[in-house]
Amino acid sequence: MPKLVSHPDEVRIISRRFGTGAENIDKYVELDGYKAAQLCIEKGPEFIINEMKASGLRGRGGAGFPTGLKWSFVPKNVDRPKYVLVNGDESEPGTCKDHLIFLHDPHAIIEGTIIAGLAIGAKMGFIYLRGEYRYLLKIMEKAVADAYAKGYLGKNIFGSGIDFEVVTQTGAGAYEVGEESALMESLEGKRGVPRIKPPFPAVVGLYGGPTVINNAETIASVPHIFLMGGEAYAKVGSERNGGTRLFGISGHVEKPGVYELPMGYNLKKAIYEVAGGVLGGKKLKAVVPGGSSTPVLTADELDVGLDFDQMGKAGTMLGSGGIVVLDETVSMVEFALRTISFYQHESCGWCIPCREGTDWLKKTIGRVYAGGGVEKDLDNIKYLAENMMGRTFCPLGDAAAMPTIGFIKKFRHEFEEYVRGNAGVSPAEHDAALVSLG
Ligand code: SF4
Repeated sequence: MPKLVSHPDEVRIISRRFGTGAENIDKYVELDGYKAAQLCIEKGPEFIINEMKASGLRGRGGAGFPTGLKWSFVPKNVDRPKYVLVNGDESEPGTCKDHLIFLHDPHAIIEGTIIAGLAIGAKMGFIYLRGEYRYLLKIMEKAVADAYAKGYLGKNIFGSGIDFEVVTQTGAGAYEVGEESALMESLEGKRGVPRIKPPFPAVVGLYGGPTVINNAETIASVPHIFLMGGEAYAKVGSERNGGTRLFGISGHVEKPGVYELPMGYNLKKAIYEVAGGVLGGKKLKAVVPGGSSTPVLTADELDVGLDFDQMGKAGTMLGSGGIVVLDETVSMVEFALRTISFYQHESCGWCIPCREGTDWLKKTIGRVYAGGGVEKDLDNIKYLAENMMGRTFCPLGDAAAMPTIGFIKKFRHEFEEYVRGNAGVSPAEHDAALVSLG
């Protein structure tokens, strides 16, 4: 379980109630809880959408789409029920931020869900947690029950004449259902595979109704935007990237943890100052900046701001905010093998480029790692991964291909060492790693 950590450079907005006992509804209310929802009831949908647009909040699940704009896409006059869906399927390796919100501030998620519902005219919200978070479901369920008991959920919320229901649900532990349409399939009780788009969920989503789907951190940020004001929230971050973000810094660092930093904060500073630098004073080799699907950065590429645009310009992605630091002792071939093994295991098998591509990549990288590789394998790895890009049914194919391309491009010399038998890894180490990968 992630420990609560802190650093003076942190700007505590989302995490300001962590560790205060705010999972208790009375404490949450004492700390300005449910004030934002009442303000939004008073002001109405147009005010909500305008403030959200002014805040510059972009989806914290990884795509970085502007939240206010997303909400504005939901058609106003439809005869079908609309829904808010909170994506708490946090499954990206290296990521454990939503976990902390569910644990310490579940009412912020409920309040954000209510506000999203008010914005789009929905009367029902679903909070979906990953299967492995079943123990957090108990916390979430209690928070929902307490909100019902206070009259903040159910009929006539806050005495406003508006009804809003919230239902909690867990998945069965599949990475794939983090994809929004697969999540809707799962929630409807079906196999968690993606839907054809268009239509997009804002028009035809859950149970065929217009649906807004947001990541749990995105939704938990919403009440704070209304407590601060959209413009004030935007100013905390960088250009076109409003507010703060929970960054999980893990791997070979002195002080691993989840830190709340302003958008645009320098990555190098985050590693060397906030997280205390590389463990044991070793040299840094590489950083996976935003969860395992984001292309790797080398030690020379870290002077970059942590926001969607700056990371994009650096040839990678902000992703889920899970920063994984790798020191000089890490074999990038083994790391590439472990990464692709995860995606091969999680591929739902729905489309051929992903199902076959992840399998062939695992086999080919595995052969190089096991010492049986040939020079041609390295070109094949790159060719296979590049041919998966943009050709799969959902983003999982790209999520598997992108990091692989990064590993083979930036650390090809290490792959070559394995092919030439100079990697310096003992046969016993190879065998143990391969056995552990199955
Ligand atoms: Fe399934 Fe992979 Fe195709 Fe997505 S890309 S639909 S996970 S097989």
